[in-house]
Amino acid sequence: MSLAVVWHPSYEVDIGPHVFPTAKYRLIRDQLLAEHTLTAADFVAPEPASHDDVLLVHTREYVEKILAGRLSVAEQLLLEVPFSTDLREAMWRCAGGSIRTAQLALQHGIAVHLGGGFHHAFADHGEGFCLINDVAIAIRALRRDGALERALVLDCDVHHGNGTASIFVADPTVFTMSIHQDHNYPAWKPPSDLDLALRDRTGDAEYQALLERHVPQIVRQHAPDLVFYLAGADPYAEDQLGGLRLTIEGLRRRDQFVMDALRTEGVPAAVVLAGGYARRPDDTVEIHCNTVRAAKVGSLRDLRA
Ligand SMILES: [Zn+2]
Repeated sequence: MSLAVVWHPSYEVDIGPHVFPTAKYRLIRDQLLAEHTLTAADFVAPEPASHDDVLLVHTREYVEKILAGRLSVAEQLLLEVPFSTDLREAMWRCAGGSIRTAQLALQHGIAVHLGGGFHHAFADHGEGFCLINDVAIAIRALRRDGALERALVLDCDVHHGNGTASIFVADPTVFTMSIHQDHNYPAWKPPSDLDLALRDRTGDAEYQALLERHVPQIVRQHAPDLVFYLAGADPYAEDQLGGLRLTIEGLRRRDQFVMDALRTEGVPAAVVLAGGYARRPDDTVEIHCNTVRAAKVGSLRDLRA
């Protein structure tokens, strides 16, 4: 196996006409297969997370409400995607996918989840398209299983990782870092361990310089057993929900830098996709494909070493 990539067809949920393109997961897979970056044998189909896994992060009251389909109108409005059994099953499967990705990353040094990064889900509620927090669930599940002690969440989605920051606020074993547009959703940003809040229209050079200044230093200081990298496509200049000015090439260099830096520090990387809402859906697919291409180049380099 050259690069382990986790994906499941159930991630494509019918949510009606919506800015969130749930087809992107399948389209990315199709593109990577068509261009021979990946073969069918590289893909791993995850099991859903168990209820016990989900309860490591979310309150029993919230989980029971989801399972009974009893989210209030206010809760559904906050979620901003229509709730359905399909959505619930996709999100449980996606949390299982991030658990599997983390396990594969610990085994192989890097693994990619064509899904995940639902960082706006809090312990007791969902919001901003995020029902449950797959990355938080994966970290807690692996720690329960004795697979890791310390983790770092490196969140490069254009939106602040409010749910993740809140979940791990009192947990010194998990360092949360968010680099995001300041004047954007969510209005209330509970502090991460490091927040890099960017001005509107920040471009490639400034963004890259900040990552270069902070990422290697945080990795050395926190010394995590695993890094979850949220490689959001929405810092892109043409994103409908973002106000930064990164180019497709700038985002490609970002991914390359982060994965190179983690490999240099010898820390396994679990990569998840997070957001992407470009005006042209093809751009979102291309940005996410670049993330996987960069991961693949890195994994081949390791094999030759
Ligand atoms: Zn986002």
